[in-house]
Amino acid sequence: MRSLQGEIEQRGRRIFELVDKHPESLFSKAGFYQRLMTLSMRDEQLKLQLFRFVDVLPSLRTSGEIVEHLQEYFADAHDSRKLSEFLRAGIRLARIVPWISGPILRWNVSEMAHQFIAGRNPNDVMRTLRKRRTQKIGFTVDLLGEAVVSETEADEYAARYLDLLEGLAHETKNWTDPLGKNSELFPVVNLSVKISALYSQINPADPADAIVHLTPKLRPLLRRARELGAFINFDMESYAHKNSTLELFKTVFTEEEFKDWSHAGIVIQAYLRDSETDLRDLIEWGRARGTRFAVRLVKGAYWDYETTKSRQNGWDCPVYLQKPESDANFEALTRLLLENESVVTAAFGSHNVRSIAHAQAFADELGIARSRFEFQLLYGMAGPIKRALVDMGYRVREYSPVGELLPGMSYLVRRLLENTSNEGFLRAKFSENVSAEDLLRDPCEILRRSRNGVLPPSTATINMTTTIPKTQPGAPYENAPLTNFALPENQERMRTALREQRNQFGRKVPLTINGEKIWTDTMFSSVNPSQPDQIVGYAAEAGTPEAERAIAAARGAFEKWRRTSFEERCQLVERAAEILERRRFELSALEVFEVGKPWAQADGDIAEAIDFCTFYARQMRLIGRPRLTQNVPGEESYQHYWPRGVALVIAPWNFPMAILCGMVSAALVTGNTVIMKPSEQSVIIGAMLMEIYEEAGVPPGVLNFLNGKGSVIGAHMVDHKDVDLIAFTGSREVGLGIWESAGKTREGQRELKRVICEMGGKNAMIVDSDADLDEAIVDSIYSAFGFQGQKCSALSRLIVLEENYDRVVERLLAAAASLRVGNPEEPGIVVGPVIDEAAYRRILEYIEVGKSEATLAYQAKEVPPHGYFIPPTIFTGVSPSKRIACEEIFGPVLSVLKVRNLDEAIEVANGTDYALTGGFFSRSPANIERVKAQLEAGNVYINRPCTGAIVGRHPFGGFKMSGSGTKAGGEDYLLNFLVPRVVTENVTRHGLAPEKTPEYRDEFLWPKA
Ligand SMILES: Cc1cc2nc3c(=O)[nH]c(=O)nc-3n(C[C@H](O)[C@H](O)[C@H](O)COP(=O)(O)OP(=O)(O)OC[C@H]3O[C@@H](n4cnc5c(N)ncnc54)[C@H](O)[C@@H]3O)c2cc1C
Repeated sequence: MRSLQGEIEQRGRRIFELVDKHPESLFSKAGFYQRLMTLSMRDEQLKLQLFRFVDVLPSLRTSGEIVEHLQEYFADAHDSRKLSEFLRAGIRLARIVPWISGPILRWNVSEMAHQFIAGRNPNDVMRTLRKRRTQKIGFTVDLLGEAVVSETEADEYAARYLDLLEGLAHETKNWTDPLGKNSELFPVVNLSVKISALYSQINPADPADAIVHLTPKLRPLLRRARELGAFINFDMESYAHKNSTLELFKTVFTEEEFKDWSHAGIVIQAYLRDSETDLRDLIEWGRARGTRFAVRLVKGAYWDYETTKSRQNGWDCPVYLQKPESDANFEALTRLLLENESVVTAAFGSHNVRSIAHAQAFADELGIARSRFEFQLLYGMAGPIKRALVDMGYRVREYSPVGELLPGMSYLVRRLLENTSNEGFLRAKFSENVSAEDLLRDPCEILRRSRNGVLPPSTATINMTTTIPKTQPGAPYENAPLTNFALPENQERMRTALREQRNQFGRKVPLTINGEKIWTDTMFSSVNPSQPDQIVGYAAEAGTPEAERAIAAARGAFEKWRRTSFEERCQLVERAAEILERRRFELSALEVFEVGKPWAQADGDIAEAIDFCTFYARQMRLIGRPRLTQNVPGEESYQHYWPRGVALVIAPWNFPMAILCGMVSAALVTGNTVIMKPSEQSVIIGAMLMEIYEEAGVPPGVLNFLNGKGSVIGAHMVDHKDVDLIAFTGSREVGLGIWESAGKTREGQRELKRVICEMGGKNAMIVDSDADLDEAIVDSIYSAFGFQGQKCSALSRLIVLEENYDRVVERLLAAAASLRVGNPEEPGIVVGPVIDEAAYRRILEYIEVGKSEATLAYQAKEVPPHGYFIPPTIFTGVSPSKRIACEEIFGPVLSVLKVRNLDEAIEVANGTDYALTGGFFSRSPANIERVKAQLEAGNVYINRPCTGAIVGRHPFGGFKMSGSGTKAGGEDYLLNFLVPRVVTENVTRHGLAPEKTPEYRDEFLWPKA
C-alpha cells in the first residue's frame, strides 16, 4: 500500500499531466495584462507603482488626467530604464496624443479586470455561468462593491444580494447537478456574502452589536434562499471581523427558522494560527445543532494586510509567517474536515495542486465519495486546473465576482498581488516552471528541513502579554501596543474593569504636597458626562495657600532632584510606565466614565502615556551626559543640560492621562520638580497619576498634585516668581493668557519663564478629485467625530474639490447618519457625550451660528436623553470666512467647503489662525508632494485620518495660534525643559596637552560634596 505522500504525488502528477495537455500561461489573456504581470514580477518598486496606477485609473475622468497620472507614477522609472519599452512608448505617446492613449489604457485595464470579474451585472454574469455549465463547472456568485461607509449603502447592498439571488434562481431553474450524485448537498445556486457589505458599523470590540444589526438584514435573504433551494456562504474577511462572522453564523443558524437548514456555509482561513480552534468549535457546534453545514477551507486573502496591521499596532501577528506553515495547516484542517464529513460538507478553495491532491488522497483514504465534497477556484485563474479536476470526476465550483470596475478595484488588486506573489503556487507553476516534484513536496517536511523543528501548534493562542518597550540606547524604540479589542479576552477584561470602576464611584482624592495627603474644606465633584447624576469621584480643592505650599515644596525638593542622576530619574518614569501598563484596563475604564471616551480611545490614551514615559526616558539617556563639542588639542568643551527649576504642568481633560503624564514625565526625567494640575473635569484620573508616581517612588516634593480652579490657583502659580517653567496644553484663550503673563518679570524671579504652550486647531483635510472615497469618507468621519470631535487634532473643515463634491457629500452625510452615538460604556460606540454642560451649551450655540451661516446638511436625530450628548452635525456650503470655518468648536461639528482646484484648497486650508493638523486624500503623486510642501500644519497626514499621533512616530504639535512649536513625543521635546550649558577648560600646561579627550565627562554633573 502506498503512503499518503505517495498517493498525493500520484494524484498531483495526474493533475499536472492533464494541465499540460492544455498548455496555458498563468495569464490566460495575453497583451497588456501579461506584460503588466511580467514587469511586476521583475521589479518590486515598479510593481508597487503599477498597482497604484491600476488602483486610481477607474476614478480618473479625462484622458488628460490619465496621462498626468501616468507620468507622475512612472517618471522615475522612465529615467532609470526600469520600464519596458512598452510602457515608455505609452508615456511618449501619451505626451503627444493624450486623447488616444488615455482611453487605450483605460480599455486595457478594464479588459484586465474582466479577467477576474465574471460580469458587470447579473445579466452579464449569466453568460459566463452558462458557459461554465457546459464545462461542468458550478458557481458561487459574489457581489463586488465599494466598502460600505453607511447604512444606506449597506441596505442597497442587501437589496442587490436579494435581486441577484432571485435572478440566479430564475435563470438556472432547469439546471441540474453536474455530477448527478449527492446533489442534495450542493444546490446549483450558491451565493457568497460578505458581512462587512451589510453593516457599516461593525466594531471588532462589539460582535454582539454586529449580530443584532446583521441578523435582521440576513434573515430575508436566508429565508428566500431556503425557499428557492439556494445555498448561502459567509465569506471570511480580515481578522478583525473573524469572531463576529463566526458568532453571527452560529447565532443565525441556531435560530428555530434556520436550525434544520443545511445549505449554509462559512470560510475558515488556514493561514490563521487559531483556525484549528475555530474549526473544532464549529464542528462541535454543528453536531449539537444536528444539521449539516459546509466549510470552505482557504488559506486566506489578507496576508499582507494582517502582517502590516499587526506590525503597525505592535500586536502578535494572527497569521503564520512562513508559507509552508499555512500549507501544512491547510492540510491538517483538510483532514479534520474530512474526518467529520458526517456533519460538515467540505469545499477546498485552493489553486495549489499539492493542497488539492492532498485533499483527494485523504478523502480516498477515508472512503469518501468524490461527489461529497468540492473544489472551489476563482474565476479567471487556474483554468487548466479546473479542467483537470472536472476530467478526474471531481466537483468544481467557480467563485465568480459580479460588479463594476471601480467598486471591484480592491478585489482586482488583491488578485493581481496574488498572481505575482513570490510565495504563490500559481506563479511557481505557471510562470517559473518549478518542477512537479518541488511543487508536490510535503509542507511539513519543508518546515522540518528548514528549521529542524516542528510546526507550531495551529491552536497556539495569541499571546497578548505586552512588554514594556526597550528603552536602552541603541535598541529600536517600540511603542506600547494598543489593546486588540477584537480578542474576546480583552473585551472581557474591559467589561470587568468597567464593573469594578463603577463600584468605586464616589471615591475621594486628596491633594498631595511634599508627600503629604491634604484634605481641604471644599471638595470638587467629577461627574460622568454620559450620566451627570453619577459622581465618579470627589477631589479636595486647593486654594492659594495650598498653591503656595506646593510651590515651596517643589522649590525645596529641586536642589536634590536636579543632582539625582538622570539614570535614576529615567528608572522612575519607566517604573511609572510599568504601573500604567499593569493598571491599564482599570485606567481605561475610569476614562470611559470620567471623560466619556470610547473603549479604544481610552486604551489609546493610556498606551500613549506609557509611550511618553518610555520615550522620554530613552531620550534623556541620549542627552543626559556632558558631551564634547569639538575635538581640539588643549581644550575641552562639554555641552550639557541643567533642569530649569520648578515646572507647573497644566493639562486638559481630553487626553486626561497621556498629556498630563507626558508633560509631567518630561519635566521629572529632565530633573525639574513639578506641580501638576489636571483639568477639573478629569481630576480623578490626575489623582491616579499621582498614585502611580508615588508607587514608582517619586521623592516627596518632587511631584505635587494640586486640584483647583484654573482661574484661581492656575493663574496664581503662572504669575509666581518661583515657577520657572509652565507646560500647558489647552484652549487658545488660556494659553495666550499664560504666554502673556509669563512674559512679565516679577520681583525676585530668577529665570525667564519658559512656556511650552499647546493650543487648539481648526484642522482641514482636502479631498482631491482622484481620492479614494472609501478611505476619504471613513477617515474623515473618524477624524471629525471620533471622541466627539474633542481632540485638538480633530477634523473640522473638509475641503472638497468641486468635481467630487456631490459624491463626497452624499456619502459623507449617509456615513454620519450611520454612526453609533451613545454611552461609551458600550464597546462599539463611536460618539459619546461632550465633556460638560458648559461645552454642551457652547457647541449648541455654534450650531445655531452655523445654521445662520451655511446649510445644515445633517444632524443626528436621536441622541440619548440624559447626558451631554450633541448630535453629530455637518454643515455644507460653508464659506471660508464664516465663524464656523474659522473658530475652534471642539465638538462633533464638521464644515464642508467646496473649492475649484487644489490652489484654492490649499489657500483655504491655510487661511485660519491655526496650524495644528491637516490632511490630504489624493492618488496624484505630484499633488501629494505639493500639499506636503505647502500645507500649514504641524502634523500633515496624507491618505489617513488626521488624529491619532503616535509617540516617536508622529511628534505632535503645531505653530501659528496652535502652539509654540514644540513637539510632544519628539526627539527634541525634552530640550524645552532644560537649559543648555557649556563648560570649557584649558587643559594645556606649558604647551603640553593630553593626547585624548573623552567624548563624555560625567564628573561635574555629580560633584563630590
Ligand atoms: C473559491 C475561493 C474562495 C475564497 N474565499 C476566501 C475568503 O472568503 N476569504 C479569504 O480570506 N480567502 C479566500 N480565498 C483565498 C484567497 O483568496 C487565495 O486565493 C488563497 O489564499 C490562495 O491560496 P492557494 O492555496 O490557491 O495558493 P498558494 O499559492 O498555495 O497559497 C498562497 C497563500 O498562502 C498564504 N501565504 C502567502 N505567503 C505566506 C507566508 N509568508 N506565510 C504564511 N502564509 C503565506 C496566503 O494565504 C496566500 O494567499 C478563496 C479562494 C478561493 C479559491
